[in-house]
Amino acid sequence: MDYFLTEEQKMIKEIAAQIADERIRPVRAALDEAEEFPWDIMKVLARSDLFCLCIPEEYGGFGGGSFENCLAVEELGRACIGVATTFAAGSLGAYPILLYGSKEQKSKYLPEVASGRKLAAFAVTESSAGSDVSGIRTTALKDGDHYILNGTKQWITNGGEAEIYSVLAMSNPKRGPRGASFFIVEKGDPGFSFGKKEKKLGIRASATRELVFNDCKIPKDRLISREGLGFIIAMRTFDKSRPGIGALGVGLAQGALDVSVEYARQRKQFGRPIINFQAIQHKLADMATLTEAARALVYAVARYLDTEPKDISKVSAMAKVFPADVAMKVSTEAVQILGGYGYMKDYPVEKMMRDAKILQIYEGTNEIQRNIIGQELNKEYSRLKKSFLD
Ligand SMILES: Cc1cc2nc3c(=O)[nH]c(=O)nc-3n(C[C@H](O)[C@H](O)[C@H](O)COP(=O)(O)OP(=O)(O)OC[C@H]3O[C@@H](n4cnc5c(N)ncnc54)[C@H](O)[C@@H]3O)c2cc1C
Repeated sequence: MDYFLTEEQKMIKEIAAQIADERIRPVRAALDEAEEFPWDIMKVLARSDLFCLCIPEEYGGFGGGSFENCLAVEELGRACIGVATTFAAGSLGAYPILLYGSKEQKSKYLPEVASGRKLAAFAVTESSAGSDVSGIRTTALKDGDHYILNGTKQWITNGGEAEIYSVLAMSNPKRGPRGASFFIVEKGDPGFSFGKKEKKLGIRASATRELVFNDCKIPKDRLISREGLGFIIAMRTFDKSRPGIGALGVGLAQGALDVSVEYARQRKQFGRPIINFQAIQHKLADMATLTEAARALVYAVARYLDTEPKDISKVSAMAKVFPADVAMKVSTEAVQILGGYGYMKDYPVEKMMRDAKILQIYEGTNEIQRNIIGQELNKEYSRLKKSFLD
């Protein structure tokens, strides 16, 4: 399909595809096996200017938007969503600063992110606060010219590897959800340390760690925007970043389809390539249709978000939930098409199937995305002045 990309957008896709083919594909199984953080690949992405895509030009970026970011993420995800998640989590960590940071904060942190000199991370989840973000217990209490943070964040992507952390904490616990605020915490800040690195089912090249704040003292100018805006910043960040998860899903599904078609054309049973069996053709047809539908949705939503519209929660959730389900379905079918070989580590589809699962869980589970879509539909239709029932 021709999505009418500009010359610059085509170039972004080509650069990311080349890195995926030459640098990621050859090592993805080894990174997965060793649970090794892909620093070498991050350096290549930095040298190729891919970290700067959605950072404004005045802060050393390319000045693109969600769409350009999605194009790069999709191509990287086609090879390995463990590596692509590491890359994408960097933009997620930078979004609170990009969307709500002061000029000084943007000038200090965004050029570092854009150049790839420093990785960012986004820290909301805690042991008792997953889908229900309002359950966070980490506090950030004002003490003169500083804030003092106490608490533990769980399962933070790029934890321990990143230098810049956007952290949600309660600055006024008595006010409940209205007492939450976002802060920038730097690696090396006093009282800030890292807990255990998780062992995971998939995306094993990405690092997932605890962040521990033990009387962590940061200057007061690390507060993002105003006290009390934490939840709004978190929700607006997710609205902006969810199509990126969709792009990971599209990339993974395309990668699984690529392997499946090639394998089905080569593998012979009953004297002919299995692609000649209608049962296999129908599977491939559904996989290709779902993947293209997911891509069309992600591209349309990302382009729409870049026009800065209001009320984007519904479409942003759609651009996450559908590609995530597609990636899970397509990678599972890919294993089926490869039969016993698909179950073995000799081929990449077992890893793709393990990796795909995370897309239905992180950045808001797929159940939560469906809640958002359902609630937004309810609001939308309650505003309509006409009935569809007659
Ligand atoms: C590998 C990995 C990386 C991650 N990276 C980050 C990161 O970088 N930063 C960060 O802040 N967090 C991160 N997370 C956390 C992730 O966002 C949460 O795991 C996710 O939001 C779900 O929270 P939970 O796991 O506590 O599940 P729970 O909220 O306990 O949910 C359990 C089940 O109940 C369902 N459920 C819960 N509430 C509802 C409801 N109201 N309606 C319907 N169903 C519901 C869920 O959909 C799910 O199926 C990461 C997680 C993983 C596994």
